[in-house]
Amino acid sequence: YPDFKVENEPILGYKKGSAEREQLIEALEKASNTIEDIPIVIGGEEFRTSEVRHQVMPHDHQHKIAQFYYADNKLIQKAINKSVEVQAKWDRTPMGERLEIWNRAADLMAGKYRQKLNAATMLGQSKTTIQAEIDSACELIDFIRFNAFFLKENSKYQPISENPCVTKNSVRFRGFDGFFAAVSPFNFTAIGGNLSYTPALMGNSVLWKPSDTAVLSNWVVYQIMREAGVPEGVVNFLPSDGPVFGDAITSSPYLSGINFTGSVPTFNRLWQQVGQNINNYINYPKLIGECGGKNYHFVHPSADPQSVITSTIRSAFEYCGQKCSACSRAYIPESLWTEIRDGMIKEQGKLKVGDVTDFSTFMGAVIDERAFNRIKSYIDHARSSDKLDIIVGGKYDNSKGFFIQPTIVKTTDPKDKIMVEEIFGPVLSIYVYPDRELDATMELVGSSTQFALTGAVFANDEAFLRRAFEEFKMTAGNFYINDKSTGSVVGQQPFGGGRMSGTNDKAGGPYYTTRFTTIQAIKETF
Ligand code: GLU
Repeated sequence: YPDFKVENEPILGYKKGSAEREQLIEALEKASNTIEDIPIVIGGEEFRTSEVRHQVMPHDHQHKIAQFYYADNKLIQKAINKSVEVQAKWDRTPMGERLEIWNRAADLMAGKYRQKLNAATMLGQSKTTIQAEIDSACELIDFIRFNAFFLKENSKYQPISENPCVTKNSVRFRGFDGFFAAVSPFNFTAIGGNLSYTPALMGNSVLWKPSDTAVLSNWVVYQIMREAGVPEGVVNFLPSDGPVFGDAITSSPYLSGINFTGSVPTFNRLWQQVGQNINNYINYPKLIGECGGKNYHFVHPSADPQSVITSTIRSAFEYCGQKCSACSRAYIPESLWTEIRDGMIKEQGKLKVGDVTDFSTFMGAVIDERAFNRIKSYIDHARSSDKLDIIVGGKYDNSKGFFIQPTIVKTTDPKDKIMVEEIFGPVLSIYVYPDRELDATMELVGSSTQFALTGAVFANDEAFLRRAFEEFKMTAGNFYINDKSTGSVVGQQPFGGGRMSGTNDKAGGPYYTTRFTTIQAIKETF
């Protein structure tokens, strides 16, 4: 198979007058003047049902950009049959051919289709240019390239001890003789591509249920992968109702695994359904999931206040706080509070909220009505509680788009629900702790929520950092020292969390691909 190296895809700058900016403007115009008709695809055949749905732009919710169709149970069964039918042939496709397809796809994403992908992500998921560029360009391309690289590297198995004159030992990665289900979220186009195409890379066939609110960008990914050469039937595109899809896949004996990103209740329900059907499967299904977080920034009195201000504002409010990794609770010592508060209010005042096609916008709208209402309810709770104080922000308006102001809430109760529950929106909760209560406040970080996705500590005191390194060990799958809790880079910081944040299989790392394979060990005797 071809040997190759990998590097992270560079982020483009979109400066005024640059070629990428011109191309993006053109792609945005085209996408916003079209209602893309997106079919269900099973084994290369297109289907349309009477269950018609639309995707709108969150920042202008009367504006439709895509029409799609829900696959019913019959079509999902058809996709299962097709997947099982094509799997063995796909799994026998030499690894070199698969790697070539993946590298070709990454090149198409990096070149010809970069702005089409970014435009679909910006309009459909309300991302600003930079947020789209780091998602549907850089991270997506990195996932595709690095996973191919990791597969190649991991295949170079060297037994620790053997007698080479008598035996030769090797392993091979096999796909499962069934199907994988990929259930992907709205918040990263890259995650859609990763959840569906990593199991496929490893020789599995896949049923991909994209999120309704990311269907356009996910469809662009799907078309690129087909153009790159992924054979029909290897990945089947199935927008559908969550429970209908969940029931269909978990009741099939051929379910080999679920690659999921979404809410805790949905993931738990899938586990329960798999449990109920456990006697019926031909393989033990692998359940791989990333569910959410209540990510923290913990500030020590020795921290640099300016770095805390910038990092926290970015982590809490970039992409409206809708990254799973976004900072949602901060612990700030009383001695630094006034300076940090004033700095944050000043920074918040500079954040422009609005139409994401305007290059000066910092934050678009939240994804849909349901998210808007959920986030609004936390702001209303802050407004009505004596223990909570809205420091800045707090306004919302869904007349044109689902807009919510970046909001900072201070609480005197570190266990108030605003410090404990996932909000998944632009609301940052802060507990200001008396400096002398450092120990008790540190204890709260791990004990007050069920999550452990990302966390960051800010300090210049080495002894404290060493302590935090030990005491916060189980509080985050991705732990940052003097940096914000968002922005993991493929191949640099493998991403995922423990506890109720997920199974921590570390997307973007060398171990991830091995989760989608059933390994055969081979001993040859001479
Ligand atoms: N990897 C992304 C980050 O570190 C977050 C991915 C997610 O939202 O699931 O910001």
